Amino acid sequence: MKIEIGRLRQEPGAVEAFDFFLSPEGGEEDYVLLTPIHVTGTLTNGGNDFRLAGRLVAKVQLVCSRCLSPVEQDLAVDVEEDYDYDEFPDIDPSIDLGDIAGQIWVTSIPMQVFCRKDCKGLCLQCGKNLNEGDCSCPKEEVDPRLAALKDLFQK
Ligand SMILES: [Zn+2]
Ligand SMILES: [Zn+2]
Repeated sequence: MKIEIGRLRQEPGAVEAFDFFLSPEGGEEDYVLLTPIHVTGTLTNGGNDFRLAGRLVAKVQLVCSRCLSPVEQDLAVDVEEDYDYDEFPDIDPSIDLGDIAGQIWVTSIPMQVFCRKDCKGLCLQCGKNLNEGDCSCPKEEVDPRLAALKDLFQK
């Protein structure tokens, strides 16, 4: 999605509104886009710079940091950014907003999500999802160093 900035550059105060959908091509991200990213906002000639004000919205599927089950989330990212005129040379009469929005989006994916506030996670011994019920592993906390010793004696 490119925005023509020829007119915008000449008129301080001029505003260009945008509203488009972005569907980034795959990648190695650890999330799945369930909808295209809806990008809306305005680009304003601020006198000395371009002011970008917008919002990125999409439904994503992330992975719970504790139990690794899928978590659907509506993600909304507000963007406010100023760009010097110099960042967009005169020879290029347009700004690639799709590119800019894509970069902002990638840095906005939360690093940590939980399927629910009190997610119990996985059992460290058998890997069972403890939200689905207890497993039969012994419950006492075993000091890993002691556990190693115990293993030695059993051999
Ligand atoms: Zn979880
Ligand atoms: Zn277990």
